[in-house]
Amino acid sequence: MLDDLRELYQEVILDHGKNPRNFRRPESFSREAVGNNPMCGDALVIYLSLDDDQTITDVAFQGKGCAISVASASMMTEVVKGMTVEKAEALFKAFHAMCTGDDDASQILDSFDEETVERLRMLAGVRQFPMRVKCATLAWHTMDAAVNGSHEISTE
Ligand code: ZN
Repeated sequence: MLDDLRELYQEVILDHGKNPRNFRRPESFSREAVGNNPMCGDALVIYLSLDDDQTITDVAFQGKGCAISVASASMMTEVVKGMTVEKAEALFKAFHAMCTGDDDASQILDSFDEETVERLRMLAGVRQFPMRVKCATLAWHTMDAAVNGSHEISTE
């Protein structure tokens, strides 16, 4: 059972790492931010389009990084597209808490659908490898920066 789970976890992460979704620079976007994780060499740019109701109508990314950072960015773009900024930020908080082993995420997660929560749980498996937590959270920190009007963040 545990081996099955581990296999599934790796398969999904590897697939997103190799074939990242929304890996492009959109022709138009409303926000953009650069995220750097010097410890690993991950460097990503996140592009966000927001409508008048502060809903994320499009989100894409470019850059280079390790499989975990690229997979996490790919999954982030799929998950937050269509969400309001407020929801996306709540999800970022919950994900960050999951990755750092803080358990007060469950209350926030209750308001999200099972598929979204399942994806975050998969990614949050990196907390077994503390060095990789910055890789997994980089795209989320960068999305948060873009939402808040910052243009650049670094994990250092
Ligand atoms: Zn990395």
